[in-house]
Amino acid sequence: MASIQFLGAAGEVTGSCHLLRAAGKKILLDCGMIQGGREEDARNRENFPFDPADIDAVVLSHAHIDHCGRLPLLVKRGYAGKIHTQTATADLVRVMLEDSARLAEADVEQGNRMRARRGLKPLEPLYDLADVSEAVARMRGHDYDQRIELYPGIYLRMQDAGHILGAAIVEIWVDEGAGERKLVFSGDIGPDGTPIMRDATPVQRGQPGADGKHLRRSPAPPA
Ligand SMILES: [Zn+2]
Repeated sequence: MASIQFLGAAGEVTGSCHLLRAAGKKILLDCGMIQGGREEDARNRENFPFDPADIDAVVLSHAHIDHCGRLPLLVKRGYAGKIHTQTATADLVRVMLEDSARLAEADVEQGNRMRARRGLKPLEPLYDLADVSEAVARMRGHDYDQRIELYPGIYLRMQDAGHILGAAIVEIWVDEGAGERKLVFSGDIGPDGTPIMRDATPVQRGQPGADGKHLRRSPAPPA
């Protein structure tokens, strides 16, 4: 039986992170930075409420830091799998995470000067550029509107979220033997009507048929 655990961006807007358990796999949806003040910074350093080495796959909705910002930390702490995302996000995420690593280093340097005056031990930055490279190497870009089999019984498709370059609404189909169930992870959507971004693709009930164009209602008829 599939289940979803909301581990961030619940009751707050940053730190998007959700754990989907389905078809015997653990799939993490986003791994964003918690943003705000010093208290939020400290929460980013806490242990994840799961063992990163236990996660089978990560799916990333888009390159904003509150959705991807803790991915280098996830890899640093033992995540060994791939990060599935839209093709443009796979490119954009490097720029975003390198910027985030530089900011983290500058923040820690400043904080450590204060800590030294108080006789406290220096803190390490959350992650550095080498950790970012490790995370970026795990990125697997997929085009919009392609249904991909992630694992037997788990399929995903990215649709245009019209939010930033490469942003995706992620549709996930899970088949655990009793017919397919569809989950939609919207990420951030819109705004509509901007000059260079396409508007979000409306999500349809069901799944693409064999030709990938026509939708049929789920659950899928037996093959
Ligand atoms: Zn966003």
